[in-house]
Amino acid sequence: MDDHYTRLLKRLHQEYVPYHVIWELTHHCNLDCVMCYNAPVTRPELALAEGCSVLDQLAVAGALRLTLTGGEVLTSPHFFPLATYARQTGFALNIKTNATLLTPDTADRLAALEPLQVDVSLLAATSGTADRITQRRHSLERALRGISLLVERDVPVKLNSLLMEINLAESESLVSLARSLGLPHEQFVKISPDDQGTPKAAQHQLGREAMTRLNAMNLSSCGQGSSPTERTCQVGMGSCLISPDGIVYPCIELRIPLGDLRQQTFAEIWQNSPHLQQLRLSHTRPHLHTCATCELIEYCEGRCAGLAFKESGDWLAPDTLACHQAQARFAHLHSDRTIPTTPHLAKLNLASDAVASPRSLHVHPIDLTF
Ligand code: SF4
Ligand code: SF4
Repeated sequence: MDDHYTRLLKRLHQEYVPYHVIWELTHHCNLDCVMCYNAPVTRPELALAEGCSVLDQLAVAGALRLTLTGGEVLTSPHFFPLATYARQTGFALNIKTNATLLTPDTADRLAALEPLQVDVSLLAATSGTADRITQRRHSLERALRGISLLVERDVPVKLNSLLMEINLAESESLVSLARSLGLPHEQFVKISPDDQGTPKAAQHQLGREAMTRLNAMNLSSCGQGSSPTERTCQVGMGSCLISPDGIVYPCIELRIPLGDLRQQTFAEIWQNSPHLQQLRLSHTRPHLHTCATCELIEYCEGRCAGLAFKESGDWLAPDTLACHQAQARFAHLHSDRTIPTTPHLAKLNLASDAVASPRSLHVHPIDLTF
Protein backbone atom coordinates (compact mmCIF):
# COMPACT_ATOMS: atom_id res chain seq x y z
CA MET A 1 0.00 0.00 0.00
CA ASP A 2 1.53 3.34 -1.07
CA ASP A 3 1.91 6.08 1.51
CA HIS A 4 0.18 9.42 1.13
CA TYR A 5 3.19 11.13 -0.49
CA THR A 6 3.66 8.32 -3.06
CA ARG A 7 -0.05 8.46 -3.92
CA LEU A 8 0.15 12.23 -4.33
CA LEU A 9 3.19 11.93 -6.61
CA LYS A 10 1.42 9.30 -8.72
CA ARG A 11 -1.60 11.57 -9.10
CA LEU A 12 0.59 14.55 -10.05
CA HIS A 13 2.32 12.36 -12.67
CA GLN A 14 -0.97 11.07 -14.04
CA GLU A 15 -2.20 14.63 -14.43
CA TYR A 16 1.17 15.85 -15.79
CA VAL A 17 1.48 18.56 -13.14
CA PRO A 18 4.97 20.15 -13.32
CA TYR A 19 5.32 19.97 -9.55
CA HIS A 20 9.14 20.24 -9.49
CA VAL A 21 11.04 22.76 -11.58
CA ILE A 22 14.82 22.99 -11.63
CA TRP A 23 16.11 26.39 -12.65
CA GLU A 24 19.70 27.03 -13.63
CA LEU A 25 19.83 30.70 -12.69
CA THR A 26 23.24 31.23 -14.19
CA HIS A 27 26.10 29.31 -15.77
CA HIS A 28 28.66 31.64 -14.17
CA CYS A 29 30.73 30.09 -11.42
CA ASN A 30 33.64 31.11 -9.22
CA LEU A 31 35.14 27.62 -9.60
CA ASP A 32 36.24 25.86 -12.79
CA CYS A 33 35.65 22.17 -12.04
CA VAL A 34 37.28 19.75 -14.43
CA MET A 35 34.01 17.82 -14.94
CA CYS A 36 31.73 20.85 -15.38
CA TYR A 37 29.21 20.20 -18.17
CA ASN A 38 27.70 23.69 -18.44
CA ALA A 39 27.92 25.23 -21.88
CA PRO A 40 28.51 28.98 -21.91
CA VAL A 41 25.13 30.65 -22.48
CA THR A 42 25.35 32.86 -25.54
CA ARG A 43 22.05 34.66 -25.00
CA PRO A 44 21.51 37.05 -22.07
CA GLU A 45 20.30 35.48 -18.84
CA LEU A 46 16.69 36.22 -17.85
CA ALA A 47 16.33 39.65 -16.27
CA LEU A 48 14.82 39.93 -12.79
CA ALA A 49 11.40 41.00 -14.09
CA GLU A 50 11.39 38.12 -16.60
CA GLY A 51 12.36 35.73 -13.79
CA CYS A 52 9.53 36.93 -11.54
CA SER A 53 7.06 36.50 -14.41
CA VAL A 54 8.36 32.93 -14.92
CA LEU A 55 7.78 32.22 -11.22
CA ASP A 56 4.20 33.49 -11.50
CA GLN A 57 3.67 31.21 -14.51
CA LEU A 58 5.14 28.20 -12.70
CA ALA A 59 2.83 28.79 -9.73
CA VAL A 60 -0.21 28.92 -12.02
CA ALA A 61 0.93 25.70 -13.74
CA GLY A 62 0.97 23.91 -10.36
CA ALA A 63 4.69 23.85 -9.52
CA LEU A 64 5.26 23.26 -5.81
CA ARG A 65 8.97 22.75 -5.48
CA LEU A 66 11.68 24.89 -7.03
CA THR A 67 15.35 23.95 -7.17
CA LEU A 68 17.68 26.86 -7.83
CA THR A 69 21.06 25.84 -9.20
CA GLY A 70 23.83 27.10 -11.46
CA GLY A 71 26.67 27.49 -12.30
CA GLU A 72 26.97 28.90 -8.81
CA VAL A 73 23.76 30.56 -7.67
CA LEU A 74 25.60 33.03 -5.43
CA THR A 75 27.28 34.60 -8.48
CA SER A 76 23.86 35.65 -9.78
CA PRO A 77 22.71 39.13 -8.72
CA HIS A 78 19.14 37.83 -9.08
CA PHE A 79 19.52 34.88 -6.71
CA PHE A 80 18.27 36.50 -3.49
CA PRO A 81 15.50 38.61 -5.09
CA LEU A 82 14.19 35.61 -7.08
CA ALA A 83 14.50 33.17 -4.19
CA THR A 84 12.68 35.63 -1.91
CA TYR A 85 9.94 36.11 -4.50
CA ALA A 86 9.69 32.34 -4.93
CA ARG A 87 9.18 31.88 -1.19
CA GLN A 88 6.59 34.67 -1.10
CA THR A 89 4.80 32.93 -3.98
CA GLY A 90 4.70 29.76 -1.90
CA PHE A 91 7.33 27.50 -3.45
CA ALA A 92 9.26 25.00 -1.37
CA LEU A 93 12.87 25.81 -2.14
CA ASN A 94 15.92 23.64 -2.78
CA ILE A 95 19.23 25.36 -3.38
CA LYS A 96 22.37 23.88 -4.88
CA THR A 97 25.64 25.67 -4.18
CA ASN A 98 29.36 25.00 -3.84
CA ALA A 99 29.18 27.05 -0.59
CA THR A 100 32.57 28.68 -1.19
CA LEU A 101 31.17 32.20 -1.54
CA LEU A 102 29.09 32.16 1.64
CA THR A 103 29.75 34.87 4.21
CA PRO A 104 27.97 35.40 7.54
CA ASP A 105 25.74 37.94 5.79
CA THR A 106 24.78 35.73 2.80
CA ALA A 107 24.34 32.75 5.14
CA ASP A 108 21.87 34.86 7.19
CA ARG A 109 19.98 35.77 4.03
CA LEU A 110 19.95 32.19 2.83
CA ALA A 111 18.72 30.92 6.21
CA ALA A 112 15.92 33.54 6.12
CA LEU A 113 14.61 31.82 2.96
CA GLU A 114 13.95 28.69 5.05
CA PRO A 115 14.92 26.33 2.24
CA LEU A 116 13.77 22.73 2.33
CA GLN A 117 17.36 21.68 1.65
CA VAL A 118 20.67 23.13 0.55
CA ASP A 119 22.75 20.71 -1.50
CA VAL A 120 26.48 21.33 -1.28
CA SER A 121 29.09 19.63 -3.45
CA LEU A 122 31.84 18.02 -1.43
CA LEU A 123 34.31 16.90 -4.05
CA ALA A 124 37.30 15.90 -1.96
CA ALA A 125 38.41 15.23 1.57
CA THR A 126 41.82 16.82 1.13
CA SER A 127 42.74 20.30 0.09
CA GLY A 128 45.08 19.31 -2.75
CA THR A 129 42.52 17.05 -4.46
CA ALA A 130 39.77 19.64 -4.06
CA ASP A 131 41.92 22.29 -5.68
CA ARG A 132 42.88 19.97 -8.56
CA ILE A 133 39.18 19.37 -9.25
CA THR A 134 37.96 22.94 -8.84
CA GLN A 135 41.11 24.52 -10.33
CA ARG A 136 40.93 27.13 -7.57
CA ARG A 137 42.98 27.43 -4.37
CA HIS A 138 41.60 26.66 -0.90
CA SER A 139 38.27 25.51 -2.32
CA LEU A 140 37.77 22.80 0.32
CA GLU A 141 38.51 25.14 3.23
CA ARG A 142 36.14 27.72 1.77
CA ALA A 143 33.40 25.14 1.21
CA LEU A 144 33.79 23.81 4.77
CA ARG A 145 33.56 27.34 6.17
CA GLY A 146 30.40 27.94 4.09
CA ILE A 147 28.90 24.65 5.30
CA SER A 148 29.61 25.63 8.94
CA LEU A 149 27.92 28.99 8.42
CA LEU A 150 24.78 27.19 7.20
CA VAL A 151 24.83 24.55 9.92
CA GLU A 152 25.24 27.24 12.62
CA ARG A 153 22.01 28.74 11.30
CA ASP A 154 20.15 25.41 11.31
CA VAL A 155 19.88 25.29 7.53
CA PRO A 156 19.29 21.68 6.39
CA VAL A 157 22.41 20.80 4.41
CA LYS A 158 23.04 17.68 2.36
CA LEU A 159 26.47 16.89 0.96
CA ASN A 160 26.90 15.38 -2.51
CA SER A 161 30.11 13.81 -3.74
CA LEU A 162 30.70 13.03 -7.39
CA LEU A 163 33.30 10.28 -7.57
CA MET A 164 35.91 10.28 -10.35
CA GLU A 165 39.40 8.80 -10.74
CA ILE A 166 40.81 12.03 -9.34
CA ASN A 167 39.01 11.67 -5.95
CA LEU A 168 38.23 7.94 -5.87
CA ALA A 169 40.90 7.23 -3.26
CA GLU A 170 39.11 9.64 -0.94
CA SER A 171 35.65 8.07 -1.15
CA GLU A 172 35.86 6.64 2.37
CA SER A 173 37.40 9.82 3.79
CA LEU A 174 34.50 11.75 2.24
CA VAL A 175 32.05 9.53 4.12
CA SER A 176 34.02 10.09 7.36
CA LEU A 177 34.17 13.83 6.77
CA ALA A 178 30.41 14.02 6.21
CA ARG A 179 29.87 11.91 9.33
CA SER A 180 32.11 14.18 11.39
CA LEU A 181 30.02 17.14 10.21
CA GLY A 182 26.84 15.25 11.14
CA LEU A 183 25.34 15.79 7.70
CA PRO A 184 23.56 13.49 5.24
CA HIS A 185 25.79 12.52 2.36
CA GLU A 186 25.33 10.85 -0.99
CA GLN A 187 27.89 9.63 -3.51
CA PHE A 188 27.32 9.63 -7.26
CA VAL A 189 29.26 8.39 -10.25
CA LYS A 190 27.20 9.77 -13.11
CA ILE A 191 28.95 12.56 -14.95
CA SER A 192 26.90 14.64 -17.32
CA PRO A 193 28.61 14.81 -20.69
CA ASP A 194 29.51 18.33 -21.67
CA ASP A 195 26.54 20.20 -23.15
CA GLN A 196 28.77 21.58 -25.91
CA GLY A 197 29.41 18.10 -27.23
CA THR A 198 33.10 17.91 -26.26
CA PRO A 199 34.62 15.11 -24.14
CA LYS A 200 35.85 17.57 -21.45
CA ALA A 201 33.47 16.37 -18.72
CA ALA A 202 32.81 12.79 -19.84
CA GLN A 203 36.50 11.83 -19.78
CA HIS A 204 36.26 11.85 -15.96
CA GLN A 205 33.53 9.21 -15.89
CA LEU A 206 34.53 6.15 -13.82
CA GLY A 207 34.65 2.85 -15.66
CA ARG A 208 33.03 -0.43 -14.68
CA GLU A 209 35.94 -1.85 -12.70
CA ALA A 210 36.20 1.22 -10.50
CA MET A 211 32.43 1.09 -9.93
CA THR A 212 32.65 -2.58 -8.97
CA ARG A 213 35.30 -1.69 -6.40
CA LEU A 214 33.05 1.02 -5.07
CA ASN A 215 30.11 -1.35 -4.85
CA ALA A 216 27.82 0.14 -7.46
CA MET A 217 24.81 -1.15 -5.53
CA ASN A 218 25.00 1.76 -3.14
CA LEU A 219 25.59 4.55 -5.59
CA SER A 220 22.82 6.95 -6.49
CA SER A 221 21.25 7.57 -9.85
CA CYS A 222 17.94 9.18 -10.71
CA GLY A 223 16.59 6.11 -12.49
CA GLN A 224 13.70 4.20 -10.99
CA GLY A 225 15.51 0.99 -10.18
CA SER A 226 14.79 -2.41 -11.57
CA SER A 227 11.32 -2.73 -10.07
CA PRO A 228 8.73 -3.50 -12.72
CA THR A 229 7.52 0.09 -13.09
CA GLU A 230 6.32 1.28 -16.44
CA ARG A 231 9.17 3.78 -16.85
CA THR A 232 12.89 3.76 -16.14
CA CYS A 233 12.54 7.36 -14.97
CA GLN A 234 9.84 10.00 -14.81
CA VAL A 235 11.35 12.40 -17.35
CA GLY A 236 8.66 14.57 -18.96
CA MET A 237 5.99 13.66 -16.42
CA GLY A 238 6.23 16.08 -13.50
CA SER A 239 9.40 18.11 -13.69
CA CYS A 240 11.58 20.06 -16.07
CA LEU A 241 14.62 22.29 -16.25
CA ILE A 242 14.90 25.98 -17.16
CA SER A 243 18.23 27.30 -18.42
CA PRO A 244 19.60 30.75 -17.51
CA ASP A 245 18.33 32.20 -20.80
CA GLY A 246 14.82 30.80 -20.40
CA ILE A 247 14.90 27.64 -22.51
CA VAL A 248 12.85 24.78 -21.05
CA TYR A 249 14.27 21.22 -21.18
CA PRO A 250 12.80 17.90 -19.95
CA CYS A 251 15.52 17.52 -17.30
CA ILE A 252 19.11 18.36 -16.48
CA GLU A 253 20.43 15.57 -18.71
CA LEU A 254 17.97 15.40 -21.59
CA ARG A 255 18.86 18.64 -23.34
CA ILE A 256 16.17 18.64 -26.00
CA PRO A 257 14.82 22.21 -26.06
CA LEU A 258 11.06 22.29 -25.51
CA GLY A 259 10.42 26.00 -25.85
CA ASP A 260 11.62 29.52 -25.07
CA LEU A 261 10.08 31.40 -22.14
CA ARG A 262 10.84 34.66 -23.94
CA GLN A 263 8.47 33.62 -26.72
CA GLN A 264 5.90 31.35 -25.07
CA THR A 265 4.34 30.95 -21.67
CA PHE A 266 5.40 28.06 -19.47
CA ALA A 267 1.91 26.53 -19.72
CA GLU A 268 2.01 26.59 -23.54
CA ILE A 269 5.37 24.81 -23.54
CA TRP A 270 4.41 22.28 -20.87
CA GLN A 271 1.08 21.40 -22.47
CA ASN A 272 1.94 21.56 -26.17
CA SER A 273 5.57 20.53 -26.63
CA PRO A 274 5.61 17.57 -29.07
CA HIS A 275 8.76 16.24 -27.36
CA LEU A 276 7.01 16.13 -24.00
CA GLN A 277 3.98 14.47 -25.51
CA GLN A 278 6.25 11.86 -27.09
CA LEU A 279 8.08 11.27 -23.80
CA ARG A 280 4.82 10.83 -21.92
CA LEU A 281 3.47 8.41 -24.50
CA SER A 282 6.47 6.35 -25.39
CA HIS A 283 9.22 6.61 -22.76
CA THR A 284 8.03 3.30 -21.35
CA ARG A 285 9.79 -0.02 -20.93
CA PRO A 286 8.14 -1.73 -23.93
CA HIS A 287 9.58 1.00 -26.20
CA LEU A 288 13.17 0.54 -24.99
CA HIS A 289 14.06 -1.46 -28.09
CA THR A 290 17.58 -2.62 -27.21
CA CYS A 291 17.17 -2.93 -23.43
CA ALA A 292 14.31 -5.38 -23.96
CA THR A 293 16.82 -7.98 -25.15
CA CYS A 294 19.41 -7.34 -22.44
CA GLU A 295 20.58 -10.17 -20.22
CA LEU A 296 21.46 -7.71 -17.46
CA ILE A 297 18.17 -5.86 -17.35
CA GLU A 298 17.39 -6.97 -13.80
CA TYR A 299 20.73 -5.48 -12.66
CA CYS A 300 20.13 -2.20 -14.47
CA GLU A 301 18.95 0.65 -12.29
CA GLY A 302 20.12 3.78 -13.94
CA ARG A 303 19.26 3.89 -17.64
CA CYS A 304 19.16 7.58 -18.50
CA ALA A 305 17.30 8.92 -21.52
CA GLY A 306 19.47 12.03 -21.42
CA LEU A 307 22.77 10.17 -21.53
CA ALA A 308 21.37 7.91 -24.26
CA PHE A 309 20.37 10.96 -26.30
CA LYS A 310 23.77 12.56 -25.85
CA GLU A 311 25.47 9.33 -26.93
CA SER A 312 23.36 8.31 -29.89
CA GLY A 313 20.63 10.88 -30.54
CA ASP A 314 18.04 8.26 -29.47
CA TRP A 315 16.53 8.74 -26.01
CA LEU A 316 15.04 5.23 -26.09
CA ALA A 317 18.49 3.65 -26.50
CA PRO A 318 20.63 2.27 -23.66
CA ASP A 319 23.43 4.36 -22.21
CA THR A 320 26.95 3.15 -21.61
CA LEU A 321 27.14 4.20 -17.98
CA ALA A 322 23.95 2.27 -17.11
CA CYS A 323 25.38 -0.81 -18.83
CA HIS A 324 28.61 -0.51 -16.84
CA GLN A 325 26.70 0.00 -13.61
CA ALA A 326 24.61 -3.10 -14.36
CA GLN A 327 27.80 -5.05 -15.00
CA ALA A 328 29.32 -3.72 -11.78
CA ARG A 329 26.24 -4.84 -9.80
CA PHE A 330 26.42 -8.26 -11.45
CA ALA A 331 30.15 -8.53 -10.63
CA HIS A 332 29.52 -7.51 -7.05
CA LEU A 333 26.82 -10.16 -6.58
CA HIS A 334 28.43 -12.98 -8.60
CA SER A 335 32.19 -12.60 -8.23
CA ASP A 336 32.72 -16.19 -9.49
CA ARG A 337 30.85 -15.73 -12.78
CA THR A 338 31.82 -14.22 -16.11
CA ILE A 339 30.27 -10.80 -16.51
CA PRO A 340 27.84 -10.81 -19.43
CA THR A 341 28.02 -8.05 -21.96
CA THR A 342 24.95 -6.00 -22.90
CA PRO A 343 23.56 -5.57 -26.43
CA HIS A 344 24.66 -1.93 -26.28
CA LEU A 345 28.26 -2.67 -25.25
CA ALA A 346 28.41 -5.47 -27.80
CA LYS A 347 27.35 -3.01 -30.48
CA LEU A 348 30.01 -0.57 -29.32
CA ASN A 349 32.45 -3.45 -29.59
CA LEU A 350 33.49 -3.19 -25.97
CA ALA A 351 34.54 -6.30 -24.15
CA SER A 352 32.62 -6.87 -20.92
CA ASP A 353 35.61 -5.93 -18.80
CA ALA A 354 36.64 -2.91 -20.88
CA VAL A 355 36.09 0.69 -19.87
CA ALA A 356 34.22 2.71 -22.46
CA SER A 357 36.14 5.67 -23.68
CA PRO A 358 33.74 8.60 -23.64
CA ARG A 359 35.86 10.09 -26.40
CA SER A 360 34.58 7.34 -28.68
CA LEU A 361 30.97 8.29 -28.03
CA HIS A 362 29.13 10.73 -30.15
CA VAL A 363 27.83 13.50 -27.90
CA HIS A 364 25.04 15.66 -29.23
CA PRO A 365 25.55 19.35 -28.53
CA ILE A 366 22.50 21.43 -27.62
CA ASP A 367 20.51 22.40 -30.67
CA LEU A 368 18.12 25.29 -30.15
CA THR A 369 15.46 24.31 -32.68
CA PHE A 370 12.05 23.63 -31.21
S1 SF4 B 1 16.57 11.31 -18.41
FE1 SF4 B 1 18.27 10.78 -17.01
S2 SF4 B 1 18.66 12.67 -15.80
FE2 SF4 B 1 16.64 12.87 -16.78
S3 SF4 B 1 15.18 12.13 -15.24
FE3 SF4 B 1 15.68 10.37 -16.57
S4 SF4 B 1 17.41 9.29 -15.57
FE4 SF4 B 1 17.21 11.36 -14.65
S1 SF4 C 1 21.33 -2.52 -22.39
FE1 SF4 C 1 22.34 -1.36 -20.73
S2 SF4 C 1 20.87 0.28 -20.26
FE2 SF4 C 1 19.72 -1.34 -21.33
S3 SF4 C 1 18.92 -2.73 -19.74
FE3 SF4 C 1 20.90 -3.55 -20.41
S4 SF4 C 1 22.33 -2.71 -18.92
FE4 SF4 C 1 20.50 -1.43 -18.81
